[in-house]
Amino acid sequence: MSEKKFEIDPSCEDDYDVASLDYDEAVKRILDATSAIADHETVAVHDSFDRILAAPITSNINVPGHINSAVDGYAASSRSMPTEGTTTLPVIGTAFAGKPYTGTFDQNGVVRIMTGAVVPDGADLVIMQEHATRSGDDITFDNRTKAGDNVRAAGEDIKAGEQVLTAGTRVGPAELGLIASLGIEQVQIKRQIKVAFVSTGDELKGVGQPLAPGEIYDSNRYTLFGMLKRLNVEILDLGVVVDERDAVRQALSHAAANADMVITSGGVSVGEADYIKEILQEIGEVKFWKVAMKPGRPLAFGKIGNAFFFGLPGNPVSVMVTFYQFVQPALIKLMGGISQPFIEVQARAANALKKRPGRMEFQRGYLDTDSDGNLTVSTDKDQGSGILSSMARANCFIVLPIDSGRVAEGEWVTVQPFHGVI
Ligand code: AMP
Ligand code: MG
Repeated sequence: MSEKKFEIDPSCEDDYDVASLDYDEAVKRILDATSAIADHETVAVHDSFDRILAAPITSNINVPGHINSAVDGYAASSRSMPTEGTTTLPVIGTAFAGKPYTGTFDQNGVVRIMTGAVVPDGADLVIMQEHATRSGDDITFDNRTKAGDNVRAAGEDIKAGEQVLTAGTRVGPAELGLIASLGIEQVQIKRQIKVAFVSTGDELKGVGQPLAPGEIYDSNRYTLFGMLKRLNVEILDLGVVVDERDAVRQALSHAAANADMVITSGGVSVGEADYIKEILQEIGEVKFWKVAMKPGRPLAFGKIGNAFFFGLPGNPVSVMVTFYQFVQPALIKLMGGISQPFIEVQARAANALKKRPGRMEFQRGYLDTDSDGNLTVSTDKDQGSGILSSMARANCFIVLPIDSGRVAEGEWVTVQPFHGVI
C-alpha cells in the first residue's frame, strides 16, 4: 500500500508526494525533539488548578480516616444477629458525623448512627433504619444484615502512604478536591509555559479596521489565542507582521527571547512572499517539512535560541488542525504534562466523503447518533482549508488514512471527538 508513495510518476488521481513526511513520523520527530521544562514552583492548593504537578501527590492519611457508616441506621455486632426470626435490643447511644458515640459499645445493644459517623469499636455492621422497627428505646430487626454491611472501611478510598497522583497530572476539579481531601495545603507545580505568536501577511487587518480590496481580518490570532488559553499557558500576542524580511526577522528574534515557544501562521508555503523558512535558517535551527496531510501540508518546526518554533500554514483551518495535531502534544510535553493519545471512535459515514489517496485527511465532521443509537458522522460539503465556519460547526475530526480513497455512505470511519482533542 504505502509503496505507492515512491512511485516516480504518481497518477493525478492521487496526492502522493515523495518529498512529504508521514503524519506519524512528523509527530514522532516533534516529540523526540521536545522535553519537559525542569522549573517548578510551590503554590497554595487553589492555585494549582489547571496546572501540571511537578511531583507526585502521596497521602499521609487514610481516607476516610475511620470506619464509618454509609447509611442512617443502627450500628450493631454481627454476633447479636438472630439466627432466625427477629431480635429486639436497646438503643444505648447515638453517633453523629463528626460527633462519635463516646460510651462503651456493648453487643447487647445498638447505637443509633448517622451517615459518615464513626462506627463504634465492637460494632461491625449498620442496620439500615428502613430495616429496623423502633419502639421507644428499643429496635427490632431480622438477620438480613451481615458483617461489614453499610460500613465504609478506614482507608477504603486512599491508604496512608499511597501515591494518589503522578507527576505530570493536570490538576482538574477532581484532582483539586482529592488533594484537599488529604489535607495538603501546598502543591509543587511546573512553571507556566510562555508562548508567543505572530500572524504574518500584508493582507491582514485587525478587527475594527476597514478592509481595502484583497484584505482580510486576522482570524488566526484569535483561534491561536483560544487554543492556547485552553492549555493554560501564558500568552504573548505579538500581532501582525508584514511580509518584509527585516520585520519578520525582528519579530521572531524578539518573540524567541521572551517565550518558551514561538508560533507563526502564514508565510510557509512556496509563494514568493513566504520566507519564514529562510529567516529561520538564518537565526535558528529549522526543520521544514511538507507533511502528507490535509489540511496543513507545509509545516516548519525547530528552535530559535532556547525557544521551540512552529511555523504553521496561513489558512485558518490548517492552523487549527496543525495546532491540535502537532503543537498541542509538543506543548503538553514541554510543560511536563502526560500526553494522552486522542480518543478515537468508529462511526458510520452519513454521507460520502471525498478523498484521494496520498495524504492523511482531517475532515471536519459532525458526530451524532442515529435512531438505533449508533454513531454516525456527517461532513460539510466544503472541506477547504480556508472555511473556518466548518470548524465552528464541527464537533470532531474525521481521520482518513493516507491510502484511503473516497468513502461511501455507510462505511466506518475513525473519528476524533473534539472533547478528546480540543
Ligand atoms: P500563506 O501561508 O501566508 O500563504 O497564507 C495562506 C492563506 O491563509 C492565505 O489565503 C492567507 O490570506 C490566509 N491567512 C494567512 N494568515 C491569516 C490570518 N492570520 N488570518 C486569516 N487568514 C490568514
Ligand atoms: Mg502570507
